Amino acid sequence: MNNTPETSQSDILLDKIFTITQDLYKEMSRPTEDSSDNHAAIFRLLTDLGRNLVNADRASFWKWDKRAHELWTTAAVGTGRITIPEGTGLVGKALTEQRAIVTNDPYNHPDFNSDVDKKTGYVTKSILVMPICNCRGEFIGAYQAINKLDSEGKFDLEEDCRKLSLAAFICGITLESETFLDDSHHDKLTELKNRMGFYNDYNKNFSKILNDPNSVRCVSLFICDIDFFKKVNDTYGHNAGDAVLKHVAKNISRNSRICDGVYRWGGEEFIVILPDTGLNEAADAAERIRTIIMKSVCLFEELQIKVTMSFGVTQIDPMKSIEDNIKDADEKLYMAKEGGRNRVIR
Ligand code: GH3
Ligand code: MG
Ligand code: MG
Repeated sequence: MNNTPETSQSDILLDKIFTITQDLYKEMSRPTEDSSDNHAAIFRLLTDLGRNLVNADRASFWKWDKRAHELWTTAAVGTGRITIPEGTGLVGKALTEQRAIVTNDPYNHPDFNSDVDKKTGYVTKSILVMPICNCRGEFIGAYQAINKLDSEGKFDLEEDCRKLSLAAFICGITLESETFLDDSHHDKLTELKNRMGFYNDYNKNFSKILNDPNSVRCVSLFICDIDFFKKVNDTYGHNAGDAVLKHVAKNISRNSRICDGVYRWGGEEFIVILPDTGLNEAADAAERIRTIIMKSVCLFEELQIKVTMSFGVTQIDPMKSIEDNIKDADEKLYMAKEGGRNRVIR
């Protein structure tokens, strides 16, 4: 082999690419309960690939969450998840303007946010942001590389984007498949998680709380259903019914804790799952939401629509399947309907 400095440099890079590619294959074929675990590892590897390709000190990969109107990354500076509002910072600018951005003087760039540097003492000297598309050409995320490691310490817009192009393409496909997965866990109308989202969260989080042999933690859930909802559709039309569903979903979400899971179970039925909550506390939460819904008004075009809801509450019995626990709550809901509706039965 011809061992000039250039070839050994490119050999080292090819070697790194080979190792990362092997790790990618391993990660993609690794069986996990939750495909978002694989996605997170794949992004970590692809981010590292990008960092090597442009010879940067750090790199992060940003996802544009269009549902939450935010940009987030987990790979930046070894911290947890960093979230910023969409359209802000250099990443936001690159995505809004649909072009790659380089700055070799970030502290004087109006869109650079120096908060992380102030907190950590890191000194950012150069940044490259490259927006990434899905197969339909829609921008869905961005690569960010920080501090070029060569003697000049500067990124070159054209050259470095060219080097990143293949990694960016693969990242785009991975990101798109993660977005599909996320979409399949959500309901388009209410933007709540759906039944698939429920089972994913239950297996990933809530069942672990219940099955931890060293803990005495409990989890409760309630199922609630809009009373006489068919009448809303029949009286005001299907679009008004949709508006009521959105209104109810928003009220349930806003009046639940961040740790609670809120799901559209189907039609006009919702489930709220409450970690570290016993039966009485869960019934109190349901009662509070029942009252809020009863007093609220859904505005749709010129209409003011009022609805009530019925609730069935249960504390999850870890010895039973989740389906049987939901059946228990459903039986209570049925009793609430039979008993005259607009009430909570525990
Ligand atoms: P109850 O008090 O016994 O629950 O009566 P209900 O009228 O609420 O229950 P029923 O099961 O008879 O009717 C539910 C209706 O919900 C029927 C269905 O057309 C409507 N529905 C289900 N999903 C949607 C939706 O996404 N949008 C609209 N507008 N209506 C929906
Ligand atoms: Mg109903
Ligand atoms: Mg129903």
